[in-house]
Amino acid sequence: IRQLVLVLGDQLDGRASAFDGFDPARDGIWMAEVREESTHVASSRIRIALFLSAMRHHARLLRERGWPLHYVRLDDPANTGSLAGELARAIRLLRPGRLVMTAPGDWRVLRALRRAAAEAGLALELRDDRHFFCTVREFAEHARGRRTLRMENFYRQMRRQHRVLMEGEEGTPGYGPAGGRWNFDADNRQPFGAEGPGIVPEPARFEPDAITQEVLALVAREFERHPGELDGFAWPVTREQALLALERFVDERLPGFGPWQDAIWPGQPWLWHAHLSAAMNLKLIEPREVVARVERAWQEGRVPLPSAEGFIRQVLGWREYVRGVYWTSMPGLVESNALDARAPLPGFYWTGDTPVACLSDAILQTLRLGYAHHIQRLMITGLFALLLGVRPREVHEWYLAIYVDAVEWVELPNTAGMSQYADGGVMTSKPYIASGKYIERMSGGQYCAQCRYRPGVSQGPEACPFTTLYWDFLLRHRERFAKHQRIGAQVRNLSRLSGQQAEAIRAQAAALRDALEKAGGYTP
Ligand code: FAD
Ligand code: SF4
Repeated sequence: IRQLVLVLGDQLDGRASAFDGFDPARDGIWMAEVREESTHVASSRIRIALFLSAMRHHARLLRERGWPLHYVRLDDPANTGSLAGELARAIRLLRPGRLVMTAPGDWRVLRALRRAAAEAGLALELRDDRHFFCTVREFAEHARGRRTLRMENFYRQMRRQHRVLMEGEEGTPGYGPAGGRWNFDADNRQPFGAEGPGIVPEPARFEPDAITQEVLALVAREFERHPGELDGFAWPVTREQALLALERFVDERLPGFGPWQDAIWPGQPWLWHAHLSAAMNLKLIEPREVVARVERAWQEGRVPLPSAEGFIRQVLGWREYVRGVYWTSMPGLVESNALDARAPLPGFYWTGDTPVACLSDAILQTLRLGYAHHIQRLMITGLFALLLGVRPREVHEWYLAIYVDAVEWVELPNTAGMSQYADGGVMTSKPYIASGKYIERMSGGQYCAQCRYRPGVSQGPEACPFTTLYWDFLLRHRERFAKHQRIGAQVRNLSRLSGQQAEAIRAQAAALRDALEKAGGYTP
């Protein structure tokens, strides 16, 4: 073999840069299902099934093209269980002249493969991942010389550079963002009214075919003790399915996405979101085609501009931004802990067994579906861990394990940076802190109506744990944030508390931490 093209489980695109110049007569392809990728964190069974099924569908496609593929199955008795081990075995067997791949998304995987290539004395050529609008080098250029990074600056640069939602000609007076504004947050981000979300369209579902069924049986057998329910698995596992899911989203949900992207409602997991993150992260569809499709829907007058912009901001803005942050902050990001948080992750994150109504709903849904939308992740499960002061690494390992779309380059900056402020404010301008009143407002009061606690109460038996911990957070970090531009005002509100009230809040928060630690619970 002249060269072996390495394809990872989140690189499922036959048009990827790794295949430039591919010659099926002389080259080969390597793919491997390995246990380690599902056990280095206790991966949800839904996530494992999605990866394996999508990999097997991709393998079928490559074989149909007549491309020589060396594919190792998880239950192959010779399987060493790790990417490095399997690559070493393939090198011995196939004797390639060199290795080629599209740059992996994860730092850990890159390091392991580099090492395996070096041990075999082979060159490993890494090619840019064309799935992203911005290369890692371009982002590093953008970040150079900036002490802090801001998504908004980066996003505007991306809009200009890729001419997305722009009007007029550059250099002429009419040139600028569509509709004259970069940001429609004032129209977007509303809670539902008392009547709730109304009738939400059914999400696109893809019934398991024979390949997926075989994978589901394998995962049930091999990962019996892992979290996540396999019944009802219906995620897109091929490019065709992902494209259908995109069409369904644009037709049925996109108009509602803008106004309600931050709203929450008990028992409503899907709402107006796209559910496309996993398909994009596995490279079944390209962000470019997703963004172009949404922009076209606006141009055709099918969706309002605030919804199109609100959505494009997430994909062209946040998604690209967090990838840049990841590659410019690794490997330090994974160990970062700017707020010196030391509590263990409560056991109920793995079971949903808690009387806290909003947490229980978000966690049970996550375990059942492998999915929660952004505000559930940021302002329920993430917020609770931040306020409680959980070690960021443990929070990171939970998020990486539990969601179908979890891959480290996107999960880690969101968790350590955005949600836990572990990077000390490199990625976001403020810690996302709030009391139970925020959850009450964004869920139209629905969660709190079902809960044994009261969102406005910070002490005593009825105190909402979010509210107690919110004030405790401000008390604990008073000095650090007193002069902070964006949350200084929240800190100054502490002056409304008497010394006695502050002490009572501290004591209640300490008791809560203690009780949760003693309860222990499931640890994977
Ligand atoms: P929608 O709400 O419909 O958004 C559309 C798309 O925008 C998403 O598909 C996604 O590709 C992109 N997007 C939106 N917000 C972000 C963001 N903050 N960062 C990157 N892309 C974004 N996303 C992942 O893909 N994988 C993860 O492992 C992941 N972990 C997260 C952990 C935490 C603590 C938080 C707060 C967020 C995390 N996110 C992650 C970002 C976001 O929550 C998910 O992308 C989104 O909920 C996926 O659902 P959706 O496709 O319905 O998204
Ligand atoms: Fe969540 Fe507090 Fe509301 Fe209960 S009262 S649902 S804990 S925000």
